[in-house]
Formats: sequence, structure tokens, C-alpha cells
Amino acid sequence: MAQIDDLPPLRDVISTHGLNAKKSLGQNFLLDLNLTSRIARSAGDLRDCTVLEIGPGPGGLTRALLAAGAKKVVAIEKDSRCLPALAEISEHYPGRLDVIEGDALQLDPVVLTGGDKVRIAANLPYNVGTQLLLNWITTPDWPPFWSSLTLMFQKEVGERITAVPGSKAYGRLGVLAGWRCKGGILFDISPKAFTPPPKVTSAVVHLTPNDTPVPCDLASLEKVTAAAFGQRRKMLRASLKSLTSNAEDLIRQAGLEPTSRAEEIDIAGFAALANAFKVA
Ligand code: SAM
Repeated sequence: MAQIDDLPPLRDVISTHGLNAKKSLGQNFLLDLNLTSRIARSAGDLRDCTVLEIGPGPGGLTRALLAAGAKKVVAIEKDSRCLPALAEISEHYPGRLDVIEGDALQLDPVVLTGGDKVRIAANLPYNVGTQLLLNWITTPDWPPFWSSLTLMFQKEVGERITAVPGSKAYGRLGVLAGWRCKGGILFDISPKAFTPPPKVTSAVVHLTPNDTPVPCDLASLEKVTAAAFGQRRKMLRASLKSLTSNAEDLIRQAGLEPTSRAEEIDIAGFAALANAFKVA
């Protein structure tokens, strides 16, 4: 096991502070500091930026981010039981770790990170991970407040985020992420690496903002992808009927075939559909 700092091993931290994992909070802890260090390294050069971490838990990734030289880590944790363990890390790295107790879905990350250059790194709780990602990739301003996302998801979710047209995993998430971001899955993590082990394999996804996404209205893009993938086996002329009585015209205006299906349409095609829908 890697020795990345002089703090106690994570297993001891968990038993000292009675951090038995709660399923309701998506708690599957990574206790191998080799692995958390690998995730921290994947997040890029952390020396000149603030890292926003969601769900530090007992602090395995937090410690790796700080040991990797993060100028500052701002960590949001919902479980108050973790705060004493995180306070010990804070003491070890004076002035470099701010822990905020709360629900990451309710807090404004821009306010918390003080307008600094931000990288987001997290072993996300499975129950809120997709919503948090959606919040970060659908900010009204683009480029966003963050310069990279290094996030662990269930592998199946990672595959949906990074899916390409024509694949089974391609859907709303893949269109939104592919429209606004570049990146992919870096590596998988076996259930055995976690305490307690989850049922499925996890994957670390790294995304950076696409500085020049095809211009289109986000709300319209969300509506057309929801309608198209809501009935993904149907042809667009049928699935888009929920949006407009004249679905065929809309599809033709976007330069697409009414008989095509959602999973065949690339991101530029969905952007064209969104633009046609907005003016329709
Ligand atoms: N980062 C630690 C690790 O890698 O071992 C823990 C990861 S665990 C998968 C997810 C963490 O997110 C838990 O500590 C849990 O308490 C916390 N959490 C769950 N829901 C949250 C929310 N809405 N906002 C902030 N933290 C949350």
C-alpha cells in the first residue's frame, strides 16, 4: 500500500470514527491510496487550481489530491460522521482543505470555489452522480467554471456518458456530454477495490470542456433528445410527434431523414434538430 502521507491508514480512520458505510448515501469507500493517487494524477496538474471534491467520505481521494499538490481542495460531504476524519486531514495540510457539510446538489460550486480555476474530482455517490454531472455540463455559461472533470461512475454510466452514435449506450447523456465535452473512460475499477464492494464495476471518466460546441439552444437540445430517445426504437417521425404536430418538417429542416432512429443521429444532427425546433 502506498505511503502518501503520515496520516493513519484509511481502515484505521474508518474504525476510529465509526464510519460504517451507509447504502443510502452511496458509500463505497476506496481504501487503496495507490488507486486514489492514480485518480488524482488523472485530474492533471493541480498545483495552480482549486479542486472541488464531492463526497470525500473518510478522505482517501482527498488525501491523494492534496499529496499530488492541489493548491486547495474544497470538499462537500453530506455525512456529518465524516467531518472529524476530514478535520485531521485539514490539520495535516494547513490552509489547503475546506470541508463543507451539505448536499452537493443544493450548493453553488462557483460560490464555494471563489471564482478560482477549478478542476472537479470525485468518487461520486451513485445515487446523485448523473444529476451532478448534468448540472456541470449544462451550465448556461460556456466554457464553464471548471476546466476538467475526473469522476468515478458505475461503468455502465461511464459508457453512456462517452457513447458514440450507433452504440447501445448512446442516449441523452451521451449527446449532452459529447456536445459540450471531450474525453473518455480512463480505466475501470473492480468492485473488490471498494469497502463494501458494490455489485458492479466502476470507471473513471475524464472530461474537459469543448470550447466550441456546435451552437444550439440547450433547452431545445434537451427537449429533442428526451423525445427522440424516450422512444429510441421508433423512427424520428414518430418519436418527435410529442414535440410538434409537424415532426416530418422539423426533421427535414434539420437535414435529417424522418425514417432514421435516435441512435443513428450524431451530435451535429441533434444540434440541427434543436435549432429547427427552437424556431419552429
Ligand atoms: N471519496 C470517498 C472514497 O473515494 O472513498 C467516498 C466516496 S463514496 C462513493 C460517496 C461519498 O459521497 C460518501 O462519503 C457520501 O457520504 C457522500 N455523499 C452522498 N450523497 C452526497 C451529496 N448529495 N452531497 C455530498 N456528498 C454526498
